[in-house]
Amino acid sequence: LTKQIVLAMIAGIAVGLLFNFLNVSQILGGGVTGFINNYLTNGLFDVVGRIFIASLQLMVVPLVLVSLICGACALSDGSRVGVLAGKTLLLYLMTTALAISLALVLALVFQPGAGMEGMAGDAVFDPKPAPPLSEMLVNIFPTNPVEAMAKGNMLQIIVFALLMGFAISRSGKPGQRIAGFFNDLNEVIMRMVSVLMVFAPYGVFALLANKIAQLGLDAILQLLKYFLVVLGTLLLHAFGVYSLLLKLLSGLNPVKLIKKMRPAMVFAFSTASSAATIPVTLQTVEKRLGVDNKVASFTIPLGATINMDGTAIMQGVATVFISQLYGIEIGLMGYLTVILTATLASVGTAGVPGVGLIMLAMVLQQVGLPLEGIAIVMGVDRLLDMVRTAVNITGDAVVSTIVAKSEGALNLQTFNDDNYNSVAD
Ligand code: ASP
Repeated sequence: LTKQIVLAMIAGIAVGLLFNFLNVSQILGGGVTGFINNYLTNGLFDVVGRIFIASLQLMVVPLVLVSLICGACALSDGSRVGVLAGKTLLLYLMTTALAISLALVLALVFQPGAGMEGMAGDAVFDPKPAPPLSEMLVNIFPTNPVEAMAKGNMLQIIVFALLMGFAISRSGKPGQRIAGFFNDLNEVIMRMVSVLMVFAPYGVFALLANKIAQLGLDAILQLLKYFLVVLGTLLLHAFGVYSLLLKLLSGLNPVKLIKKMRPAMVFAFSTASSAATIPVTLQTVEKRLGVDNKVASFTIPLGATINMDGTAIMQGVATVFISQLYGIEIGLMGYLTVILTATLASVGTAGVPGVGLIMLAMVLQQVGLPLEGIAIVMGVDRLLDMVRTAVNITGDAVVSTIVAKSEGALNLQTFNDDNYNSVAD
């Protein structure tokens, strides 16, 4: 299945590029191009792709809730919960701050906006209001767990599940009976994910063919330097920084992690949503990397919501780029503000497509840069969104593995085993 998913990705990109080219060049008659656009790109591929995303999203709430209740049951020692949460939060914040610092440094070296000041003129951008920090903090605590689940509010679901799991572990015999029920349910839900996974290659193909066919590739050429600096930093962070962290903090072989994460990265890339990818990330981290459920069930849904290293990288480069376009110097204090705001901004926003641009609005506002700049980078954002989402979930998996190793909750045999089965097993 892994091979099929990767092949589907390649085929989807190839077909998408072909359709994109046919559209731009108009070498086929209008009738043929119209047919491709109406019945394939915006017809069949769009429908299959959307059903595929729905099938992933469908699993997110039940999986996170049940899996985390099981995880919290297993963490019956209250003080361990605190240590686990503390380590996870610290690592998430640290990796994000590192990501954005790296992005700022590389953007200042490569100057993506130099010589492009003319573009700043007529862009218009209508920002959506960003929630204030205090509101975000209060919103973590649910008033109604059913509402939290209905709305898919991940942080609220996490709080509720942790509380419930903790209470189950303290409830003696009745607690044991309920824990048994949730453990069984967890197995069944994991199996549902595996069943849906069988259709993944078709979904990945359709989504990518649809999205790539619609990409404004000419916009990427116009902003090539910005695009390349973001892409380069994303790759450096994913393959360099994470490898280093994994080696230094856990002594584990990063190549194994990256290889095993491949299918999850393809899902993140094609859906551009870390939230929708949670079922796949969770399953990959538990079944292929050997992270115990009690760590993975907490770190992965939390990471999908608050840890967005790839998104922070885009914000770092975009801030420098926009400051150069408008010829506004923001100075060292400005850059420090960017690091702080971008790190905190990722805490309150969900991992869904395009949310990075809303967070960018918060960052620009903090340092007094014109929000219109967002309209300029928006043209090339979809492809970068896909890549950075893959980086976001890889970051979650790396932190999850490091925390699990330090807690004695990593099955080294599974981690090192090259003969792992596919995501479906
Ligand atoms: N799409 C990203 C995610 O879901 C967020 C973003 O960068 O826009 O992780």
